[in-house]
Amino acid sequence: MSEQRSPSPYPLPNAGEETTAGLERHPVRAVERPPFGLRERIYVVEVWLGLAITFRHLFVNLWRHTRRALGLGGPPGAVTIQYPEDPAVVARRARSRHRLLKRDDGTPRCTACMMCETICPAECIHIRAEGSPAVIVEKRAKSFEIDLGLCVFCGYCVEACPVDAIRMDTGEVTLSALSREELLWTMPELLGDEPHGPHPLWPGGESEKRPGRFVY
Ligand code: SF4
Ligand code: SF4
Repeated sequence: MSEQRSPSPYPLPNAGEETTAGLERHPVRAVERPPFGLRERIYVVEVWLGLAITFRHLFVNLWRHTRRALGLGGPPGAVTIQYPEDPAVVARRARSRHRLLKRDDGTPRCTACMMCETICPAECIHIRAEGSPAVIVEKRAKSFEIDLGLCVFCGYCVEACPVDAIRMDTGEVTLSALSREELLWTMPELLGDEPHGPHPLWPGGESEKRPGRFVY
């Protein structure tokens, strides 16, 4: 795993040249609220239906926890996490926020082959390529942008990358934001060269951002 922070032999793409093409390509769509039927307007029926679901979960989980406490096995009962006071628990192989990797000399591994952008089902990766001054590769990414507001965390981009330049192993799952722009991660941020903007949930910004807690 390469996480070098050594200076690049040539300047990294300028963050100011990043585009917001993703936001323009995927404008906000207003979703029509379905009209209320008679049952919704009576209100009490829906309240009882909601309570029925709550109690079904309560008794199913009570049964599962009791069985396991008595050593009878069976599926585990649900456990409530006091989020955000308790960080989210994610499995080590869970797909979390993307990162871009660097070569040993500090240059980005990405060769701007566009495989990840092409395969992305959510069309949330936007790359601009330019000629690379390094002799070992023909191209490099001038800008690389992921719109996490659109990403469905399928992991196809990671699978498609021929040079292992992108991974989803940061463990960061607290990716909420107050605007669409805040969910755009640009190349310097994905490379770890620049911190992403302050996280709205944590007043201290990036330094207080809590990554997911891994479990095996
Ligand atoms: S995880 Fe899937 S949806 Fe998200 S950027 Fe990668 S390919 Fe696109
Ligand atoms: S597939 Fe890999 S090398 Fe190709 S553009 Fe995406 S991150 Fe870069």
